[in-house]
Amino acid sequence: MITALKHPRTKIASRSHGYIGRFAPSPSGDLHFGSLVTALGSFLQAKSQGGQWLLRIEDIDPPREVAGSSESIKRCLEAHHLLWDGNIVYQSSRGDLYNEKIQYLTEQGLTYQCQCSRAQLANPDFGRLCVCADQNMSFENSAVRFRSYDDQKPFYDELLGKVDLPRHDVPMQFTVKRKDNLFAYQLAVVVDDIEQGITEVVRGADLLNATLFQLALYKGFDCPAPKFLHFPVVVSEFGKKLSKQNHACEINNNDASNNLINALAFLGLSPSKELKQDSAQNILEWAICEWDLSNIPAKTECIDNRIG
Ligand code: GLU
Repeated sequence: MITALKHPRTKIASRSHGYIGRFAPSPSGDLHFGSLVTALGSFLQAKSQGGQWLLRIEDIDPPREVAGSSESIKRCLEAHHLLWDGNIVYQSSRGDLYNEKIQYLTEQGLTYQCQCSRAQLANPDFGRLCVCADQNMSFENSAVRFRSYDDQKPFYDELLGKVDLPRHDVPMQFTVKRKDNLFAYQLAVVVDDIEQGITEVVRGADLLNATLFQLALYKGFDCPAPKFLHFPVVVSEFGKKLSKQNHACEINNNDASNNLINALAFLGLSPSKELKQDSAQNILEWAICEWDLSNIPAKTECIDNRIG
């Protein structure tokens, strides 16, 4: 179901260069502190450039969906005055588009049907072991996999600079449609980023590896890739990633200003004492003006001492 929700723009686009950013949560639970940091950072990156900030709910994996979390994510963003532009896009309503795009890739000779199991797919040597691609067969109930013939190259990240991931981490054969007929994240995210005209993908560094898969798909679609910017992932001092079980990370919507101040500190901004008592809207207006990527550590992880 598509809900048409429109918000007024937070700031009049005075310096628009056609920037379009997005926040694309999966409804697998409530937002936690780490996802608030990503939402806030991508919002500020868009608004500081007079751009648009879109919201896309990535609900393509019903078995992993937590009932009610799409609604709670929207409520949380609204409570923090992180107001998106235009209508929300729900990936669950875009199956026809994804099928059409898989068909296009198939016509380019870039897909094959694969019957290998999940355990086989998880094997790092899988690329060498799977023979489905060579057999070029058509099976009932098989997964559709994408195969890139290009060499993987380093890519440029707006925060991290040149990113050169170890090759063996990224086999360039990957699933675009699963055996159970569900679309894969890599496919849906690229199709939507292209269709929505996203000019910069801003997200957490936990998705750094995914960027290589996605760049291969942009090439397959013969479309220019957007810019990429990956923020450090929030971890505890013991390197533990945030989880939904960690209560220090739960977001209380009634404490929006304080949550924003904590998230801003993580992103290298420290408002005055007076502003800390102010409304979420005023804190955001200030942060839009002060936003500066050079305040953020160019790292893939950052410690939050509040997390045990
Ligand atoms: N839906 C993904 C997630 O919640 C994020 C996708 C993206 O930003 O590319 O982790």
